[in-house]
Parts: sequence; structure tokens; C-alpha cells
Amino acid sequence: MDDGETIVSVGGDGTFLKALHKYGFSKRYVGINTGHLGFLPDLLMEDLDRLISALKDGTYQLIEYPVLNATFNNQSVWAFNDIVLKASNSKTMHIHVNVNKIPLQKFAGDGLIISTPLGSSAYNYSAGGALLPPDSRAYQITPLAPLNTNAYRSLTSSFVVPAYQISTLDLEPSQAIPHLVVDGEEIDHEPFDKISFRLGPDVVKLLRIADYDFWARVKEKFLG
Ligand code: NAP
Ligand code: MN
Repeated sequence: MDDGETIVSVGGDGTFLKALHKYGFSKRYVGINTGHLGFLPDLLMEDLDRLISALKDGTYQLIEYPVLNATFNNQSVWAFNDIVLKASNSKTMHIHVNVNKIPLQKFAGDGLIISTPLGSSAYNYSAGGALLPPDSRAYQITPLAPLNTNAYRSLTSSFVVPAYQISTLDLEPSQAIPHLVVDGEEIDHEPFDKISFRLGPDVVKLLRIADYDFWARVKEKFLG
């Protein structure tokens, strides 16, 4: 659904993410960066007139980013960047990771980041994950300090899962309640021992008025 309303976020990436959560999937979003890094917002204050003419004339691109969905108990949450699972008591987490119904691995470590293409340049990247351009219809699971020893065997790199494949994480019962962090915000939840992830089918639309190229953005913001 596209009701044609455009939300303009003024700030950095954090402000942009808050706007996405507040106004949902049916709007279009454009960002004016006054923030710190500002990977997501495209424009500066001085571009405001250009933005207004582009909106009037319809000379803009809409880029669709798939959204990450997690379900646990009877709850469902949406993330634009990422969902992070971490132990609430700083103990090692033990998580059975099932991908596309295959029991892939028993993970041991600090936690896991499940990241969208939009979030690939955020926490995922700091943790050694890959950068994924917006038209990648896939999400990635990135380990935080994985244990890989004779005692524990965990994949040490992130891995990329096609959007239509569901990943289910089974948490060992002995564990403390996991922290669930959605786009950088910790959320309150009842205890759960199973959580499933999929990418889409919902998308969020970002409006670009200048020529947008993901790799140019990576170069500008990370290698400057
Ligand atoms: P924050 O603590 O200010 O975010 C950390 C940094 O990540 C900020 O510089 C932020 O940019 C940048 N960022 C956020 N989304 C990005 C994206 N999609 N691509 C590239 N950089 C991005 O918290 P926040 O601003 O509310 O953002 C929440 C996000 O922070 C979470 O979704 C998570 O990915 C990320 N995070 C990163 C780390 C880490 O790298 N070690 C740790 C925790 C959380 P601005 O300065 O423009 O806000
Ligand atoms: Mn921020």
C-alpha cells in the first residue's frame, strides 16, 4: 500500500529508524542528515528546496527495502536494520540454529545479529558481516564472539539466507532470559525459547532525489 505521504526525518540514522517505526510501511521516507554518521538519510538542510521541487514534479526514485519479521510466543516484531539476541546475564548463549528446517549448528557465543540489507552497514558490519545492497532479497545471521573450539563448534562468519527461507532459533532451557534488541531498542517480552525470522514480504520505501548508488554511499561514509 502506498498512500503517497512522505515522511521527512531530520537527524541521523537513529532518528530515521525511529520515524520508520512510528509511521510504518505505507509511507515513503526521506532523510535530512544533521546527525552523526547519517548512512540512511540522503540530503542536507541546503537540499530542502530540491526536495520540495522533486516531490512536486515527481522526479524521484523509490527504493524498496525488505523488512525483517521475528515471531516468538504470540508476538511479532518488525525491524528495519536488525534484531539482536544477547544473554541478559552476560553468560555464553547456546542457541540451536535451524535454517530452512535444517538443524545447521549449535551456536555458542555472545549472541547473534539478524540483519536486513538496510542494516548490513550497521551493527552487522561492525561485527564483521557483509555489506548487502538494497536489492538483495536476503538477510544475514552474524555471530557475536562465536566459540569455535574442541568443546563448541560455531560458524565463525556471518551467513546469508534467502528472504523466503525461515530461520528458527531454539534457546537452551537453562539460559537466562535473552535480551531482544530491535533496531537498537531493547524490547520487553515474556520469556521464550523459540524465535523465527523471515525477510519480508513487507517492504519500506525510501525516496531518493539524487542518483543513488549503494557502493558510492559505502565509499563516502566508510572510506571517506
Ligand atoms: P547508535 O548507537 O547511535 O548507532 C550506532 C551507529 O550506527 C551510529 O553511528 C548510527 O548512525 C549508525 N547506524 C545506524 N543504522 C545504520 C545503518 N543502517 N547503516 C550504517 N550505519 C548505521 O544507535 P541508533 O542511531 O539508534 O541506531 C540503531 C542501530 O545501531 C542498531 O540497529 C544497530 O545496528 C546499531 N548498533 C551498532 C553497534 C556497533 O556497531 N557496535 C552497537 C549497537 C547498535 P548515526 O550516527 O547517524 O545515528
Ligand atoms: Mn544514532
